[in-house]
Amino acid sequence: MFSYRHAFHAGNHADVLKHITLMATLRHLMKKEAGITLVDTHAGAGLYRLDGDYAEKGGEAADGIVKLMAAMRPATGTPPATTAALDDYLDLIAGFNPDGQLRVYPGSPFVMQALMRTEARDRLKLFELHPTDSRTLNANIAQLEAGRQIAVATQDGFEGLKPLLPPPPSVSGSKRALVLIDPSYEIKSDYAKVSACIQECLKRFPTGTYLVWYPIIPRAEAHDLPRRLKTLCNHAKRPWLHATLNISHGPLALGERPGLTASGMFVINPPHTLKAELQATLPLLVTLLGRGRGQAQSVEAGGA
Ligand code: SAM
Repeated sequence: MFSYRHAFHAGNHADVLKHITLMATLRHLMKKEAGITLVDTHAGAGLYRLDGDYAEKGGEAADGIVKLMAAMRPATGTPPATTAALDDYLDLIAGFNPDGQLRVYPGSPFVMQALMRTEARDRLKLFELHPTDSRTLNANIAQLEAGRQIAVATQDGFEGLKPLLPPPPSVSGSKRALVLIDPSYEIKSDYAKVSACIQECLKRFPTGTYLVWYPIIPRAEAHDLPRRLKTLCNHAKRPWLHATLNISHGPLALGERPGLTASGMFVINPPHTLKAELQATLPLLVTLLGRGRGQAQSVEAGGA
């Protein structure tokens, strides 16, 4: 069984990049009335305590959402200029922490759920393979009144996604889907599985919006992944967007390893508004979260 538990990492810089990109994409898709199928192939536990055991051991939120919230929503003084995408994200996180203390971090299932529309009959399918996280996710989702709009499966998300594409037509007859693919990459084969999954998705439903998160680490497979995804998109004549955030690391003690400092989001069929939104937001994230030499961001788009 896998040892990866997202609770150690919840609210870190990678979650910040992932969830801002996810929200900005969803907001745009939700402007159209037609219902949409949302899929999270690697859902995690859904909600995380930032003051819990896991979070305190890793403490990664301290260099992510905690730092960001303190800078952008200070108790006193004037906050720096913001962007609509960043504000939207911070509002969502604040909504989960109504007393103003940052104790809960919503994972991707709850980011998606928060933006779903009952009247449009959007539906959300969540896959989580780890039995403990899947049980927690089920319990967290059961607290909601979303009923049949949300389904959780303790199943391999790569496999579970296939029969969901193409999605069923909405009442207006259009087929729409957004899929988040966010593995832990604990096993090296995840990189190849993501490429194969995207290739299959583009065959089954070429107009879907697909978001892939990946870590930027010194491993050939990690550097190859965005290149492979670009090639697949170019072959299928689909537009893509590639955003990266590198917060670098501060001074390290002798022998200390820096942990994850950078990650990327690859979006296939992105909304036309996403590039400008991320180009405005990522420099701000680098300024607020960056820890030293090498801190950087990039937003690149292409295809079709
Ligand atoms: N998407 C979540 C978020 O943003 O809040 C975080 C997901 S975490 C990075 C990856 C999750 O995938 C872990 O909870 C892990 O147990 C789960 N997992 C690993 N392999 C899986 C697979 N083949 N199918 C479904 N879930 C898997």
